[in-house]
Amino acid sequence: AKAGGKDAAEFFTAEMTQRAESRMQLDADLRRALELGQFELHWQPRVSAAGGVLLGVEGLLRWQHPQRGLVSPAHFIPLAEETGLIVPIGAWVIEEACRQVAAWRAQGLPSFGVSINLSARQLRDDGLTDLVRASLLRHGVPPGVLELELTESMVMDDAERNLRQMHTLRDLGVGLAIDDFGTGYSSLAYLNRFPIDKLKIDRSFVHDMLADPTDRAITMAIIGLGHALGLQVVAEGVEEPRAAALLREARCDELQGYLFGRPMPVPAFEAWLAEREAP
Ligand code: C2E
Ligand code: CA
Ligand code: CA
Ligand code: CA
Repeated sequence: AKAGGKDAAEFFTAEMTQRAESRMQLDADLRRALELGQFELHWQPRVSAAGGVLLGVEGLLRWQHPQRGLVSPAHFIPLAEETGLIVPIGAWVIEEACRQVAAWRAQGLPSFGVSINLSARQLRDDGLTDLVRASLLRHGVPPGVLELELTESMVMDDAERNLRQMHTLRDLGVGLAIDDFGTGYSSLAYLNRFPIDKLKIDRSFVHDMLADPTDRAITMAIIGLGHALGLQVVAEGVEEPRAAALLREARCDELQGYLFGRPMPVPAFEAWLAEREAP
């Protein structure tokens, strides 16, 4: 038993070391990825619930890894948040979103909004508003075109400070949306103080609303709450026509999900758009 205990301890240590090394490796790889330009944004459409008109696109981060292929943000954003590397990565996302929307506007495409996701670290960063302003100016993008998505929990952690930051962003003229709504610890009293335009109902409720009456009730309640507060409401994760129909009936404003389009690299999104525009 003694030997087994020792083996177990040694194994544990070896595993710990390996985990620490792979985290360090991932961190180093991420820094290199930023330098080498291995990140890209994929674009997912948001459409009006009433008419299916394209209202905007959400830029979702991908890492084009030379060996591993396309890496999902779930695999590297948590570590990047921990190490703080999300701040320069996030700055790249802001710049890239502005560059891309300027390119689309220059192509004379019908105008639509662009949203991107912010992390807690970025929201806490005092340079955020200046960074956003500089990217918008550099590419000649009107601030109203850009929308930033935050989560409730992100804001509630140090709420007063984050609220100030949200106000300076709002004063700049960019839109603010609360993402994954319903999953964080939201204080309804605070929600009323957030200078936001939109709530995005978390996709877990939307996904299960056809099968689960509780999720359907929550989805409907969020639409009612959002409208009572004068906010636009977006349902994300819409995969089925029946869900889209229910959301439309409930007067949800915008829909996003695989039913309308997956997150797509630029050429695929442009093809998607051309196909819809075709008579
Ligand atoms: P999110 O902001 O909630 O983004 C929506 C996620 O749902 C995306 O996953 C999208 O691909 C997926 N999705 C969209 N429609 C459907 C659907 O109909 N069904 C299902 N099952 N899924 C759908 P993705 O791209 O893997 O991103 C995961 C999360 O990573 C995002 O969740 C966001 O929190 C984070 N993220 C992505 N890009 C960035 C970024 O640039 N910065 C930061 N800080 N976080 C990001
Ligand atoms: Ca989002
Ligand atoms: Ca979400
Ligand atoms: Ca999320």
